[in-house]
Amino acid sequence: MKFDNIILKNNIYIKGMINIITVKDVKDARERIYDIAHETPILLSEQLSKRCGNQIFLKSEHLQKTGSFKIRGATNNVKQAIQKGAKHVTTASSGNHGQAVSYVAKKYDIPATIVVPENINNSKLNAIQAYNGHVEKCGTTSAERLPRAKEIAVENNGVYIAPYDDPYTIAGQGTVGLEILEQVNKIDAIVVPIGGGGLLSGILTAVKETNPNIQVIGVEPELANDTYLSIQNKKITPITGTTTIADGLRSNQPGDLTFPIIMKYLDDLILVSEDEIRYAFSFVLERMKQLIEPSSATTIAAVMFNKLNQKGKNIVTVISGGNVDIGNIQELLLTSN
Ligand SMILES: *Cc1c(COP(=O)(O)O)cnc(C)c1O
Repeated sequence: MKFDNIILKNNIYIKGMINIITVKDVKDARERIYDIAHETPILLSEQLSKRCGNQIFLKSEHLQKTGSFKIRGATNNVKQAIQKGAKHVTTASSGNHGQAVSYVAKKYDIPATIVVPENINNSKLNAIQAYNGHVEKCGTTSAERLPRAKEIAVENNGVYIAPYDDPYTIAGQGTVGLEILEQVNKIDAIVVPIGGGGLLSGILTAVKETNPNIQVIGVEPELANDTYLSIQNKKITPITGTTTIADGLRSNQPGDLTFPIIMKYLDDLILVSEDEIRYAFSFVLERMKQLIEPSSATTIAAVMFNKLNQKGKNIVTVISGGNVDIGNIQELLLTSN
């Protein structure tokens, strides 16, 4: 199931007319984050390009500090919160966002509390603690953790740092888009993975408000197609729990702020299967010697399996992160199709 290049911009969507952030906010974020976040490199794969019949560029956020782009939104958000007097930050994410918030808080010398599920695995726990984040265990669902994180924030004169549905988080993630525009010439399309949509809506704002001719295409796992369904229904449509191996894309609905931006600007949305993700993950590891996480392998899968229906184009895939529990690599591999 996928959109056959439906032009979403023609949809009538009233909320989409509101400007939540503009490219100016993304430029301000860029100024704010550069003492912490790297400008990540663009990698090329001749083999991948040849196979797809397009020139494929990889924007390499797996080489980013803390191993994912989340450090961009976290830095932008935590920094402005501190400027407004926050003495403590909290969040409810046990994955890349939790690590990023811990890292930034430590850099700026304020405490961070990360509310995690009771059944959190050890590698995630260790990563948060390695950055000095204080961990509090609470329940097993985000519905339980989120209110607790907000409560802790209030108790400590602090601020809750949202993983995607916040203007400062979105603007921070959008800096990936500004860098791509400077690093690659004559871009035809940029392919971006979608969880809650913070990365995508930030990149859309940066790119579409600079050069609207560049196509921006989102990718979701078939098993976590909440944004796909929401676009089809023209309203936020949650899914119930998903088991996709792309664990960074498991959020069950797009955000109130990210969704209108997606409706306003997105050109197309592609779905990929679990086996396609595993095949792309294995290809990048074996041929390019890069360890990327399954959430990022979705964009490689989209170009490898020619889901964009394009030839001879310059296509940038956003490799959003590289945090993989190495004990799990075996089960992510799939080397023939
Ligand atoms: C968070 C995350 C995503 C999805 O980002 P959203 O802003 O939630 O859409 C994709 N890849 C990785 C590696 C992530 O950590």
